[in-house]
Parts: sequence; C-alpha cells; structure tokens
Amino acid sequence: MFARPPSAAELDRHLDALQGLVDTAGLLTDPADMPRYERDWMGKFHGRALGVIRPRDTAAVARVLAYLNAHRLPVVPQAGNTGLVGGSVPDAAGAFVLSVERMTRIRAVDAVGASITLDAGVVLESAQEAARRAGLMLALDLGSKGSCRIGGNISTNAGGLKVLRYGHIREQVLGLEVVLADGTVLDGLSSLRKNNTGYDLKQMFIGAEGTLGVVTAATLKLFPAEAGRAVAMVAVDRFDDALAVLAAVRRGFPGRLNSVELIGADAVALVAGTLPGARSPFALAHTYAVLIEVGSDDADAVAERGRLEEAIGALIEAGRVADAAIAQSDAQAEGLWRLREGVPEAVAHTAPVHKYDLTFAVGDIGRFIADCDLALARVAKGLRPVYFGHVADGNVHVNVMAPPGMQASGYQALQGPIDDAIFDLVAQYRGSISAEHGIGQVKRAYLDRNRSTAEIATMRALKAMLDPNGVLNPHRLLP
Ligand code: FAD
Repeated sequence: MFARPPSAAELDRHLDALQGLVDTAGLLTDPADMPRYERDWMGKFHGRALGVIRPRDTAAVARVLAYLNAHRLPVVPQAGNTGLVGGSVPDAAGAFVLSVERMTRIRAVDAVGASITLDAGVVLESAQEAARRAGLMLALDLGSKGSCRIGGNISTNAGGLKVLRYGHIREQVLGLEVVLADGTVLDGLSSLRKNNTGYDLKQMFIGAEGTLGVVTAATLKLFPAEAGRAVAMVAVDRFDDALAVLAAVRRGFPGRLNSVELIGADAVALVAGTLPGARSPFALAHTYAVLIEVGSDDADAVAERGRLEEAIGALIEAGRVADAAIAQSDAQAEGLWRLREGVPEAVAHTAPVHKYDLTFAVGDIGRFIADCDLALARVAKGLRPVYFGHVADGNVHVNVMAPPGMQASGYQALQGPIDDAIFDLVAQYRGSISAEHGIGQVKRAYLDRNRSTAEIATMRALKAMLDPNGVLNPHRLLP
C-alpha cells in the first residue's frame, strides 16, 4: 500500500506518537506556524503540512522515518525552502514536513585534509564562513546562500556561480550520511579522496530531491581561499560578441575563471529599476551584459585586474565589446554582482512568473533566445521573458513574467502552454529542461524529454527498492 495522508482522527494519534520521538520543539502543529513550511520561496507552490517535524540529530530523523514508513505516511524533506521547482513543500492533499533546520552543527573542519563535515541544516553562508575561518574556501556559492541549507544543496545537486571552476556540489561531496525511508542510517561520512570500493552510493542521493532518503550530514571538499578577485561587466550588442568575450577570458585566465554570466538588457533594466541601490554601469542599453569574475590565487589582485583590463581593452579594439566597467573595489564588484544576483528578486517584485532553467550547447544560446521570444509571442500577448544565467556552462534562466495586470491565478492557466512552447524548443536544440534546479513538481511530466524510457524505468526501480511504500516526497521528480 502506498503512503497516504491520515484521516483527521488518525492524525491526532500520529502527532502524539511523533511528539514522543523528538524533543518538545521538534514538532510544530500550531496552524500559525505552518505557512512558512507550506509555501515555497516564490509563493507559487503551497499545500498542507500535517505537522512540521524538526529533529535535532540523525538518530531522531531515523526514529521519525521508521515511524512514518511503518504507518505509510507521506513526508516532504525540507531544508532552506528556496528550491524553485516546488519540491520542498507538501501538496494540497497534505504531508508531514521533515525540516532539517535545527540540525546546524559544524561537526569538523580539517584544514590539512581540506574538508568540512557538517549537518544538513547548516545554512550555506554559515558553511562558507566556517571554511573561511580555517583559511579555506567552500566553493559552492548561490544567490540564495543566506537561506538555503547544505541538505537542500546536495539534494538538488546545486550548481551556482562558480560551477565553471569548481563544478556542481556533486563534485565536492566526499561523504554523505543519509537516513533511508525505513530509518536505516547509511553512514558514508568519509573524507577519503580515493575510495574505489564498489558502488558510489552517495551519488544516488545527490540530486534525488528527497525521493530516496533524507540527507543528514555531509563531508565536503574545501579549496585554497582565493586571495582576491577581479570583476568586470562588459556590454555587447550581439550574442556572438558574448561568445568572443567568453573565449577570450577562457584563454586569458586558465584555471582562474570563476564565472561568466550573461544578463539580457531587459533583466538589467528590471533590476536597476526595481532594487534599491542597483544601477547599470552603462549609459546606453545594450543587448547583453556579461559579468566576468576571475579569482586570483596569488595575492596580487591589482595585477589580475590589470590583466582583465587588458583583455577587455583588446575586445573593445576588436569591436566585440561596446562598453565596459571594471570594479576597482570590492564594493564595486558587489554592485556589479547585484545586477546579476538581483534578477530573481526583481522579477519576484514585479509580476507572477514561470521560471525555466535550461542548458544548451553554448553556441546555440543566442538563437534559442530569439526563437523563444517568437514562441512566447505566439502563446499569449504581453508575456515578458527575461534571460540571464551561467553562460559559460550553457545555462540559461528564462523567467517569463505575466502580462501587466494579470494576477497569479490567471497566469497559472498559461503555465502549460508556456511549458510546451519552451520545452519543445529545448528538445529541438537538444538541450536540458533542468540545468540546476531539478524536476520537483513542475517538470515531472516532461522528464521523458531528457531521459529515455529505460532510464526512467531504472529510476523507478531504485525508488521502489529504497522507498517501497512511497513515503518520501511522493509525486515529485518521477512522472
Ligand atoms: P529546499 O528548497 O528546502 O529543498 C530542495 C529539494 O531538496 C526538495 O525536493 C526537498 O524535498 C529536498 N531536500 C531538502 N533537504 C533535504 C534533505 N536533508 N534530504 C533529502 N532531501 C532534501 N540553485 C542553483 O543550483 N544555482 C543557483 O545559482 C541558484 N540560485 C538561486 C537564487 C535564488 C535567489 C533562489 C531563491 C534560488 C536559487 N537556486 C539556485 C535554487 C535553490 O536555492 C537551490 O536549489 C538550493 O540548493 C535549494 O536548497 P534549499 O536548502 O533551499 O532546499
């Protein structure tokens, strides 16, 4: 029998039993406490939490899961609740939420072995600080770093701003502790860099979006702290020019290029017009802004900035770059980054939105954007797409804002036609429907555009083996 929400009478009995498995603050049932766990960051997905279970340690997670599994009760793992595909909130039928927000222990920092072992509820920014205190660096960096948590980062295989240089979190996880649906603890916490002893089980849970187990702790690689950074934003009028910029900085800064981000003109204007203190460095509007960050390992950040200036000067002379701003201080660098990182926030302040997180062969992005504009115009009048993303990874975020004045409820009806238009184009370009954010509830129906029948059948077999009662994050990820 598959997991299902209990009746009202059964619910009280289960809540009493669950309270016995955690400390007093470990279970929230007051309706006033629920909304923050029931609604996602965008305010787009919401459902019904039957109760919020907040264990303090792995043993409590194991007790809780064993109970929920024995009684076939659905549970949604939740960390920072910043996911963008509706995977971290229950649906309308109701489920328990298992939040790792109280599991915030940094268990160990190994400065010599360059690793950090920490609970799944540690906020990404706190993990970064802990690494910094040890003179090292945690490479994962996202716009949501102040709220997202390590367990969520791992379960979404988060990418972010430095994927170009350091890879996704998948490449940074050395060991993982996971509790399976039946309460079994898989203790794979290890800082070994080499361990060829059979299946690499941890990889199965990375990016599994809480459908195969609950991540309770991880050991992550750390890297030498960057001594400084050189940051610039250049304006280009054609996508081909953005490609020329990418090629030049790849050549010029081997192994030191942290980010090359593309921001469409509409996105720049939206951030500058919406967020306090945000300002475009360019007097005129250009088709794209390209943000470049070089992380220097030597202490001479000034020399690195000089090299970046030189490279950009050559691109201006070649007619590839129309305008440029090179940050002379950390504050200026932050100001340029604000134009990139502020896009989701500015969009959220402006209109209801449907978000797409796509990957293409880098050279196809310009043509995709032109085709996407046309395809959206055919779906409905007045749709307002903005384009931005980690262009060096071929990753484009398309945020499609509702026509002016349209309310979220009305815009919901357009989600299907917009999904179809965009995902058809993705298939045409042989791209991916999810670069970083995952599948969640939004893209389940489209998984077969990227995964073969045999692959989906194998995923289902894994799910059936690890979670035979279907208690973990039901109706997410798998179609
Ligand atoms: P949640 O939203 O709580 O959960 C995400 C998924 O993981 C859900 O399916 C949930 O059920 C599951 N889950 C959570 N915790 C656990 C656990 N302990 N065990 C098992 N499953 C669990 N993402 C990127 O990759 N790159 C970006 O650059 C990026 N930028 C962003 C910028 C902004 C402003 C925002 C709001 C989001 C951004 N995101 C980005 C998306 C999001 O922040 C990431 O997906 C992040 O990794 C989610 O972490 P979280 O702690 O919020 O997870």
